[in-house]
Amino acid sequence: MNNKAIDLANSVWFKNNNQGEILYDQSWFTEHFLTEDSTLEIPLKASFIEQLLTLRTLLLEILSTGEISELQREQLDEYLSKAIYHPKISYKDGIMSSSWFCVSDYENQLLSEIAQDLIRLFSENKIEHVKTCSNDECQYYFIDHSKNKSKKFCSSKCNNLIKMRRYRAK
Ligand SMILES: [Zn+2]
Repeated sequence: MNNKAIDLANSVWFKNNNQGEILYDQSWFTEHFLTEDSTLEIPLKASFIEQLLTLRTLLLEILSTGEISELQREQLDEYLSKAIYHPKISYKDGIMSSSWFCVSDYENQLLSEIAQDLIRLFSENKIEHVKTCSNDECQYYFIDHSKNKSKKFCSSKCNNLIKMRRYRAK
């Protein structure tokens, strides 16, 4: 399962590598952040992209240190409070249950979900397993789910690339 906070943090790669701001790329954004039932308007509003960029700066600060300061906690709480949820009754196979339903607009819901995903890294003790890819040209953040926590690369793509380079260098 991907983590939206990590995805947003990693989007800075394109800017750092002089490829412009990827958040303006509709297809990239849709692929990473939108689900079938999301009602977010595409193209994104410039004001919303600004909010995402501000949140990304905060995420990068937190991921680089692995800690959340008092001030950062307040800032995250601010994002969390943007989405207003209430329980809603639903029926599935004739069984009644209630689940959380977001009543605010999807922009605020997404900002809140990204902040929730960051907090999940801490609450589920995954933050210590968040690493940066050992491919110097990549350096994407990823969660190491491997048993012995020995993963060095964000993807098999980076892994194979470096293996191939080492092999050629021999
Ligand atoms: Zn990588």
